[in-house]
Formats: sequence, C-alpha cells, structure tokens
Amino acid sequence: METIERLESKVRSYSRTWPTVFTRSKGHQIWDKDGKAYIDFFSGAGSLNYGHNNPKMKAKLLEYIESDGITHSLDMATEPREKFLERFEEVILKPRGLDYVVQFPGPTGTNAVEAALKLARKYTDRLTVISFTNAFHGMTLGALAVTGNQMKRSGAGVPLSHTTSMPYENFLGDDVDTIEYLNTYLRAGSSGVSLPAAIIVETVQGEGGVNTASAEWLQRLEKVCRRYDILLILDDIQMGCGRTGNFFSFEEAGIKPDIVTLSKSISGYGLPMALTLFRRELDCWEPGEHNGTFRGNNPALVTATETLDYWVTNEFSDSTKQKGDTIAAFLEDIVKKYPAAKARRRGRGMAQGIHCAVRDLGDEISHQAFERQLVIETSGTSGEVVKLLPPLTIEDSALREGLEILEQSVVAALKAKGLDATPALASAAAG
Ligand code: PLP
Repeated sequence: METIERLESKVRSYSRTWPTVFTRSKGHQIWDKDGKAYIDFFSGAGSLNYGHNNPKMKAKLLEYIESDGITHSLDMATEPREKFLERFEEVILKPRGLDYVVQFPGPTGTNAVEAALKLARKYTDRLTVISFTNAFHGMTLGALAVTGNQMKRSGAGVPLSHTTSMPYENFLGDDVDTIEYLNTYLRAGSSGVSLPAAIIVETVQGEGGVNTASAEWLQRLEKVCRRYDILLILDDIQMGCGRTGNFFSFEEAGIKPDIVTLSKSISGYGLPMALTLFRRELDCWEPGEHNGTFRGNNPALVTATETLDYWVTNEFSDSTKQKGDTIAAFLEDIVKKYPAAKARRRGRGMAQGIHCAVRDLGDEISHQAFERQLVIETSGTSGEVVKLLPPLTIEDSALREGLEILEQSVVAALKAKGLDATPALASAAAG
C-alpha cells in the first residue's frame, strides 16, 4: 500500500475504501496479499456479472492469445468482431425484436454515452438533452453534463451546458407525478425548456443511490418521447447484461429505447468494452466521424461472445430473479429488525440497496463489512445507500453467507454509532 499511497494521485478512491493489496480472484471471491478471502458484493462496480475469471471465458481467451489472435485492430474487420456481432444479433437482438445497429465507441461507459449524445444531437439537429436528478452517466464532459452529482460536476472546470435536469421518479416525494411535471415543461411554450434532442435515463440509478423507476414510469416516459419526437437514450451500462434479471433492464417495462448504451459487463471478463446501439434509421454518422484507437478490443470481443451462451435460454435470468428475491427478503428483514438504522430497501433483481437515513451509517456499514471480509460499496449523494451487486453467478450458499455478514455489519455499525442494535423482535419480546 505504501507505494500506492506515495505514487498515486489523490484522486484514487477504492484503495482508500478497501485498504489492502488484492492479488487473486475467482467467482465471487477475491484474495489479498495476506491470503485473506473476501466475498465480493461489488463485482467491479457491475463489470463482473459473470464472476471473476469465469472459467469458460478464460479458456476461450487463453486459446485466442495462444493462437496469436489479433489483439489490437481499431475498427478493422476481425474474426472476433464478426463472431460477436453474429451471436449478439442471434441471441440478444433478434429474439427481442430490436433492429439496432452496433457502434463500438472507445472502451468505457462514458465513451458509449458520448457517442449516444452526439448522435442524438446530430440526428435531430437540436442542442439540449434532458437528464434526471441523481443520474450518473460518466466523467467526460458530455456525460458529466447529464450527471447529477454536484461534487463530480464541479470537477469539470468549465460550464456544463446544453442539458436540463428533471426530477426522477419519487425525487419530489411519493405524491408528485414527475412524468406529468416533465410533460408540463415540454408542453408549455414558455417554460424555458427547449425541445431536447433526447432524454437520457437509467432504469435503476446505480451510482445515484439505487433509485428505481417503476415499469409504469418508464412506459410513460417513452410515451412522452414519442409525443414530442424526442429520442429516448437508455443508459444500461450498470443495469444491463442481466443485472436486474433480463439481459436489458428495460425489458420488464416492455419499452424500446431509440439508443442504448452498454459497457461494464458486456465483455464479461472485466476487459474494457462498450457498445452504443441504436435504431438503424438514426445511423447518420459519416465514416470515421466518431472514432477512437480502442474500438472493439479483440480479447474483450472473444469473452463477450462467450457470455452470450448464458442468454440462449431463460435459465440464467430466472436464477438471477430468484436470487434477487432472496436478497429482497433478507434486506426487508434487516430493515424491520433494526429500526435504529432508519433504513429502507431499494432496487430490483441483483441490484439492491439499503438506504440509511442515519448520517454516515451507510459508510460505516461498508467499513464494518470490509473488516468481516465482505467487499460492498455505498452510493448516493453522500454514501447513504449500501449497494449490493454480487456476481449473478454466485452460489446460493455464498450469497447467504454474504448477506449474513452484511447483517453483522449493520449491527456493528449501529453499535459504533452508539445506536440501538437489539433486533426489534427480541426487544419487543423482552419488553
Ligand atoms: N453510465 C452508468 C449508468 C454508469 O453506472 C457508469 C459508471 O458507473 C457510466 C455510465 C460510466 O462508465 P465508465 O466509468 O466506464 O466510463
């Protein structure tokens, strides 16, 4: 750690949250250099949905490297690229009736978002994009302009312009219909909000605090977009690739976004890769108009193709939904059992969280979990939500073990804060 502390910029964050040197990982576990095994409820911020060093992907990757397969090729035609596209069409796009073309932007999520924003502005010849409160879309200037977090925004150093922020579902409390609110601004000729090129949205705001939009809210948002001829960009970078159960997190709502961004778990192996998908008619790019040196990195395409085997039947998504139900039941129980935490459960599928209204309790729970060899992070404006993102491939027994450690961490965090950590049922019985 001393080398990292001495030589790395102050900007580093996760090595502060989890101050140990990690050496090895497999499935749902990571080991540090002292040989301590940790259960991973973080999964590379959603990049390792299929677990660490997934054996089938590893075998394909090693085989490809051994055969001197092409590693780097910008967007030249290569065999892994062709194979990925064929399989993606066959397993993901066609069965869902999605006639999208695929753009390979630079290999990170923010690259996919930049491409989406540029394309929407170019296609519609409009300037602004509407985003939502607590949204997170990335750190480059275009993506940052549609991100809500004030701390991140203030790092831009220049004005973040040509965007309008609107309230996400429940941002103004349970009684305010935020779709009607948005609609009113778009309808009124003098609201000061001009007709945007696009509306960008996450179905579950992973970084923004696991705020979860209902299917109905998403359906109504799609209708607003259709009514005003606004493009709907769905940022599925964190919630896609099966995190909420189905391959795309918007499938449950039955909507069809115009543009979809994917990254994180698309390669399945933690290798950098991103996609911007969009309706064929929107494809108004000139060749090379949006380029980048690392577009479609072949080792990532090899492992990405392998991930698609998980999506041939419903088995994987059914098992994710089932594990999601286990997580939900466990978290609801924690919420009831420890009223002093002032907690509420959030999220769906295997993206869930506990929102703690007690100041700094979320961070303390994450800290206590690390002490007990569970890696779990917080999200939200001030880390008030403990966010669970276990690998989707985790076995039921390991999931339960992780959840039990989480409960012990809640108890330890309450005690550390001088709060009542007696389970409610026990205290009621005692009373
Ligand atoms: N969009 C969403 C929804 C994200 O969660 C993230 C990262 O957490 C990004 C975009 C940015 O991705 P990256 O960090 O790979 O640039």
